[in-house]
Amino acid sequence: MENYTHINIISNEEIDEKKVEEASQIIRNLQKEISVYTANGSGPFVAAIYNEKGELISKAANSVVRENCSNNHAEMNAIKLAEQKLGTYDLSPFNLKIYVTAEPCMMCLGGIMWSGIKEVYYGVPSCDVEDITGFDEGFKPKWFEEFKERGIVVYGNIEAELGEEELLKYINRGYKVYKPER
Ligand SMILES: [Zn+2]
Repeated sequence: MENYTHINIISNEEIDEKKVEEASQIIRNLQKEISVYTANGSGPFVAAIYNEKGELISKAANSVVRENCSNNHAEMNAIKLAEQKLGTYDLSPFNLKIYVTAEPCMMCLGGIMWSGIKEVYYGVPSCDVEDITGFDEGFKPKWFEEFKERGIVVYGNIEAELGEEELLKYINRGYKVYKPER
């Protein structure tokens, strides 16, 4: 399995410029909303799910601290909302795409797989999220290849520099970086 590199965009399929352009636009808009969510006690990550026609199905931020639930990452919240809205636990017939301001953690990769979402687009890579914030993203060996084998398209590092600026703001404002005691 081969990953393709285009500028700094990475993917598990041959780069499709149109998909990159669409994703850049959506992720830039999600980045702009991060500070609105964090001012209300949510986390610095936002995810949105769109259908094939480009219609928004759901959008959510990380609410781990606000709702006292370690599972409430942006992707998990957005998936829950989409499944409630569409009335099913299996999103695969809808050919949905999830856009996230940062690379999904190990839990969210599982959540995305079980949901039946077909395409994943993310901004800041996990290594940079960990460097900037100190959040633990978990271990994710060869997930681009694993997703490809399951028919899930992945694009990463979309508008990553802008996303990193937002994470830096979160840290500089003294918001919480939560972790279990070890
Ligand atoms: Zn996550």
